[in-house]
Amino acid sequence: MSKWMWIYLYKVNMNKNGRSVCPNLCGRSFKHPVDMKYHWRNECGIRFNCPLCDKTYNQKTHLKRHSALIHGI
Ligand SMILES: [Zn+2]
Ligand SMILES: [Zn+2]
Repeated sequence: MSKWMWIYLYKVNMNKNGRSVCPNLCGRSFKHPVDMKYHWRNECGIRFNCPLCDKTYNQKTHLKRHSALIHGI
């Protein structure tokens, strides 16, 4: 994701206190766009959804392991 996309996401999620709230609704908020970016990458993560059931994972490797174990693919 580009630098400008992060700044845009940061601004649209800004609350009254001047902090940006995590769009994943995990309850975290941040003073700087880089803090939110770091949190997304390392703590909250962009979720990977299983196409065959409701399971979500924050790492693609976890989803792959789930697919192999549960769905046999
Ligand atoms: Zn989060
Ligand atoms: Zn599944």
